[in-house]
Amino acid sequence: MNAPHEPPALQDTRRRDRERNKLHKRLLRLTGQAIADYEMIGAGERIMVCLSGGKDSYALLDLLLTLRQRAPVPFELVAVNLDQKQPGFPAEILPAYLRDLGVPFHIETQDTYSIVTRVIEPGRTMCSLCSRLRRGILYRLADELGATRIALGHHRDDILETFFLNLFYGGKLKTMPPRLLSDDGRHMVIRPLAYVQERDLVAYADWRAFPIIPCNLCGSQENLKRREVKQLMREWEKRFPGRLDSIFAAMGRVTPSHLLDRDLFAFTALARGTDPATLAGGDLAFDPDPDLATGAFAPSPGPAPDTAEAPVIRVHDLRRRA
Ligand code: SF4
Repeated sequence: MNAPHEPPALQDTRRRDRERNKLHKRLLRLTGQAIADYEMIGAGERIMVCLSGGKDSYALLDLLLTLRQRAPVPFELVAVNLDQKQPGFPAEILPAYLRDLGVPFHIETQDTYSIVTRVIEPGRTMCSLCSRLRRGILYRLADELGATRIALGHHRDDILETFFLNLFYGGKLKTMPPRLLSDDGRHMVIRPLAYVQERDLVAYADWRAFPIIPCNLCGSQENLKRREVKQLMREWEKRFPGRLDSIFAAMGRVTPSHLLDRDLFAFTALARGTDPATLAGGDLAFDPDPDLATGAFAPSPGPAPDTAEAPVIRVHDLRRRA
């Protein structure tokens, strides 16, 4: 409560502090929840946090540092940045920031910029090759640093965006999962910000004044399809509040018997007289009309509605994994 004759400036400051406090709690709660839901972190884990210098990876490291203090099980963090030699990359910013934080870190310098600019024709997007090269380097670094997890700063909107790109242009229902095993089975990638909305990360980065390194130093443009999808999501967010929440929730509630993938559900083995409840991936025969089923899209699983409750990281019940 504000004092009766509090100056407006002080009232504004109090309001801003309350908002920031809520934002911080929300970010910690959603990150803790994603970690617990996908059992991302066990006791003794050594987590390599990939820092690009963008708002998302700064927030990831910042939140993991706080969650580590509150977690009932010990785990280690090591920050890693890959200096890809883009022109104008301010190489001193991240080491100075990490030294101030007191976080163990490693800066890897690899001139992938020269490779992509040599291989990709001018005017075409370089991101796909660049990301592949970066991934290979990060996997090698994880081995060298003894990391059992590789943490990336992708958030809910990245996950939705990739989902739509695959849906619209790839003919597949897939996206970036919160937890992923590398193709060779040797590395575990985790995305602790999977439940966090990008707009919260923008606000957090602004508040915490992270020393952001611009992501367009290489001159590559996002490809047209990605830009289209981003624009579509922005429009939906404005015109149909809750639609993206519903789609995000749907990704965690898949019913194979009500899709068309014959590898996921044995349609041809269906026989009259079988109890649908006994079928793996099965469901009742007819869905209710979504127009009539009020609340049918309540987002679950996934982040619970925002509350003022203290954030928790529920890693105490996670068993250590190899
Ligand atoms: S924007 Fe530049 S640095 Fe980032 S992925 Fe694309 S090519 Fe690589």
